[in-house]
Amino acid sequence: MPSETIKLTAKFKLKESPDGLNDLFPLYREIVNFLITHAYENNITSFYRLKKETYKELRGKYPQLPSHYLYTACQMATSIYKSYRKRKRKGKANGKPVFKKEVIMLDDHLFKLDLEKRIIKLSTLKGRVELEFYSARYHEKFKDWKVGQAWLVKTPEGVFINVVFSREVEVREPKTFVGVDLNENNVTLSLPNGGFVQIITQEREIRTCYYVKRWRIQKKLRAGRKRKALLEKYGERERNRLNDLYHKLANKIVELAEKYGGIALEDLTEIRDSIRYSAEMNGRLHRWSFRKLQSIIEYKAKLKGINVVFVNPAHTSSLCPVCGGKLSPNGHRVMKCSNCGFEADRDVVGSWNISLRALKMWGVTVPPESQPMKTGGWKVIRYDCFTRSKSSG
Ligand SMILES: [Zn+2]
Repeated sequence: MPSETIKLTAKFKLKESPDGLNDLFPLYREIVNFLITHAYENNITSFYRLKKETYKELRGKYPQLPSHYLYTACQMATSIYKSYRKRKRKGKANGKPVFKKEVIMLDDHLFKLDLEKRIIKLSTLKGRVELEFYSARYHEKFKDWKVGQAWLVKTPEGVFINVVFSREVEVREPKTFVGVDLNENNVTLSLPNGGFVQIITQEREIRTCYYVKRWRIQKKLRAGRKRKALLEKYGERERNRLNDLYHKLANKIVELAEKYGGIALEDLTEIRDSIRYSAEMNGRLHRWSFRKLQSIIEYKAKLKGINVVFVNPAHTSSLCPVCGGKLSPNGHRVMKCSNCGFEADRDVVGSWNISLRALKMWGVTVPPESQPMKTGGWKVIRYDCFTRSKSSG
């Protein structure tokens, strides 16, 4: 069985940030900026060269600082300088690169995470300190995962440690594929047993509801701190709500696909080439949320050993899945084939074509004439977890 590595980042909010930690942020920033300047003046893009040329001086200047901070600062400086150079070539960067963030990169020598005791042991200028964090329910799932890099991040809401976890999973050979068509307001699945499931997500309602809320705030309050805070509050609520929705959706999709061993999604990375999406999915936000939902589906599926493939999204809702002919609209959201007479909801067509493309990619040929005519055979599942917001706020 082929194995794959899954990487996920989890946030840990610290209960308090001791002085030793607060001093570390400006110090680290100073070091990163020193390194960026050195890289900039000598045009260095190699981590090893940057470390070699600066280590002695920095070691002498900051004898109390655990040496691995100098290594991670070199890593950060190299990547910041590299991305600066890239932007510069495109004419998008002026002046000298500067690091302004309150972020510290940690490697596995600098911290130890104890999920059971809910503490992080961190090396600082004053030796190792134990930091307590607020535990969240989702932290539990990382118990047997490998801990990788981490970032200490200072925000107005407090200090966080973002930890990258990884895990090897065995992905099974898929028997067949469930085609998944993501839409603004529903997710449609084409099941290998000939049935379809359509989950009404009401994502559009959620977005509209928050859009109206923000619009009202902007109309009522003058620009200022209060308005900004309110807008941020609702922005965060919307994100949380969508995130919650995506996790529930992904769980449902994975549950339905588990026995078939394969999930097919559209490859949205080259979305600009697709007429369907540029016309329908107004703006970056949707593409962003589709990718986000896809990535949640992908890792949840892989954790269960389900294979995930990405297929070409072009014309998935306008070609006939039975004969390959061109479909034309025939009433609200219904598509009809002028060649063979096949007719179905356009999202049903989309998900069916997605699963067919995955089978083709995998080298499984299903002669169209041996497939059942699946018209009208879809089930609609209505999720009720998305309607609660009407009264809130
Ligand atoms: Zn046809």
